[in-house]
Amino acid sequence: MVSGFLILLTAISFNGLGFSGPKTIPPAFRHGHRGARVVALSFDDGPHRRITPDIIRTLEDKDCRATFFLLGREVRKNPETVRALAESPRCEIGNHSINHPDFGRLGKEQALQEIMENQWLIERVSGVIPRLFRPPYGSVGRGLFAASRQAGVSIVLWDVDPEDWRGGKLSASEIAERVRPGSIILLHDIYPGTAEMLPELIDELRERGFEFWFVSELINFRRFAEAADALLSNLGFAGAGGY
Ligand SMILES: [Zn+2]
Repeated sequence: MVSGFLILLTAISFNGLGFSGPKTIPPAFRHGHRGARVVALSFDDGPHRRITPDIIRTLEDKDCRATFFLLGREVRKNPETVRALAESPRCEIGNHSINHPDFGRLGKEQALQEIMENQWLIERVSGVIPRLFRPPYGSVGRGLFAASRQAGVSIVLWDVDPEDWRGGKLSASEIAERVRPGSIILLHDIYPGTAEMLPELIDELRERGFEFWFVSELINFRRFAEAADALLSNLGFAGAGGY
């Protein structure tokens, strides 16, 4: 019993450091655990004065949820929308930097400043301290990895990109077709077409048997499942995870 517990602790701490056997916790998450039929909707570059409240209404009408990666320069313009996000149980707030730089080109100190300034801004406006960070363009580098550890945020990317910024007509069924268990979908709450398509996308995914989770829930579940899998394989149950 005690030794099992020690192995579990070892598995978890080794996972955290990235040393565990075949499956390691990555420095940036593109998706959650593949073994559960869950999906996360994520919205970047807001808050937008009109479109973000539209999307919050859709989430409430549909009893759905989503994670919003807020841009500091938009937070300054729309503090009341940030408070609406913070107050809604359907919404989770993440950090998307202040000025939308390319983090692949930033050193640790510059990266840390972009992250922390937005952390403080979002906290001052809404009382929420984000635990997730999404780098603009999905661009990552050593400076960002070091800064994110110091800031205490997990780096989140995506595995489904409908490219809603192109402005063409979005097909909800085509997007849903590309979603796998544990997927994170990248959208933007600054385009009217995205808000218009959202109700249909939610319906399409539900018809395919998906449940909607916050990005943080996907990540926490994956961490837990991979730690459990490492424990089982340490105990000699090979291939118990199945993902
Ligand atoms: Zn962005």
